[in-house]
Amino acid sequence: MPAQMQMQDVEDKTFVPMDPEQPMISIENVRKQYNGSVVALDGVNLAVKPGEWVAIMGPSGSGKSTLLNIVGCLDLPTSGRVVIAGTDTSSLTGRELTRFRAETAGFIFQQFHLIPYLTALENVMMAQYFHSMTDEQEARKALDLVGLKDRSHHLPSQLSGGEQQRVSIARALINQPRILLADEPTGNLDAENERIVMSLLRELHMQGNTILMVTHDPIIGEMADRKIVLEHGRIIHAQHYTFEEEILFDEVLEQLWVFEERAEHATQDQLQFEGGGNLKLLPVMQDIGLLHRNGKQLAMTLVGRERAASHVRRHRLAECLFAETIHVKNDRGLKSNACTFDQLLSSEMTEKICTFLNHPSQCPHGNLIPPGPCCSYANT
Ligand code: ADP
Ligand code: MG
Repeated sequence: MPAQMQMQDVEDKTFVPMDPEQPMISIENVRKQYNGSVVALDGVNLAVKPGEWVAIMGPSGSGKSTLLNIVGCLDLPTSGRVVIAGTDTSSLTGRELTRFRAETAGFIFQQFHLIPYLTALENVMMAQYFHSMTDEQEARKALDLVGLKDRSHHLPSQLSGGEQQRVSIARALINQPRILLADEPTGNLDAENERIVMSLLRELHMQGNTILMVTHDPIIGEMADRKIVLEHGRIIHAQHYTFEEEILFDEVLEQLWVFEERAEHATQDQLQFEGGGNLKLLPVMQDIGLLHRNGKQLAMTLVGRERAASHVRRHRLAECLFAETIHVKNDRGLKSNACTFDQLLSSEMTEKICTFLNHPSQCPHGNLIPPGPCCSYANT
């Protein structure tokens, strides 16, 4: 291995300073289909805050490793957006992506994936080599951190499973990545080594590292700040929101939609909460992938925008219905009746009203009505 390798020729456009409000990981509507048939991820949305520890659980084949690999830029989504530390990974070319991966993600695998003919120290230095330059002192420090100072010249075959996993944790940490990605890190370990590895991960979490960890074990899952469960490539939401809370989410989305219509930036100070909502909704809406926050600025995610379009469509169609059928004309009457009524409209009923009104393109106030499936059918 060359003692030094520098990659100065690669332009550094991947480094973006982090805003503490910005998610470290933002996954929007990500789909992954293999060989045109197996759908491993089917519309996944996830936002992970800097310093958060998230456990990914779910049955075998549910897409956990695929999700981790996509976050770590080992694999690309078939569609959807992946933004890591403020960088949209689809904007990076092959070389930039390789460098971004080395700087951003540290991987810990169930099978350790150590190179059998290299010593513990050389295995750790190997990761530095892919990054920028090797530094034996740094590698020794990393081994010391995982309690393996005295084992640096041992080959993987001379180490226990737990020790091998600790070498791979040192390897994951050596480039000071922004995110640690652990795929069943204790899957091949006995109870004692599992305890050692988990206490290491807990310590890394306390030092502020962002951790995404796949595990089958509910007890290990409990150590994380938050658990998400995948099933058939979709996140099963453990958290359910009440009808009233869902309405408050729609109210915020509708306002963001109107800002976008006027081509204006929205900030949280401009929001109006009429139905008992308040600013505390915003982090929840960010967590469930409906909006982005950048300081006080707000923007909808793809999913948030789809939901807003559907809500705005229901509301404006309800206004048309009241104006045209029972001739409600004044603004306040239209708004309050439509607000109550639109909450009750199923998507089927919405399409029926749209067809009944002959697919209007504008509401009585002259605002555009987002088209629905019945409109494209009617136009073909
Ligand atoms: P988990 O980690 O939850 O067990 P995976 O993410 O490994 O699940 O796999 C999700 C689905 O995608 C499974 O049906 C699996 O067979 C399939 N899959 C994973 N990797 C590939 C691949 N490289 N080619 C084709 N199918 C794959
Ligand atoms: Mg897996």
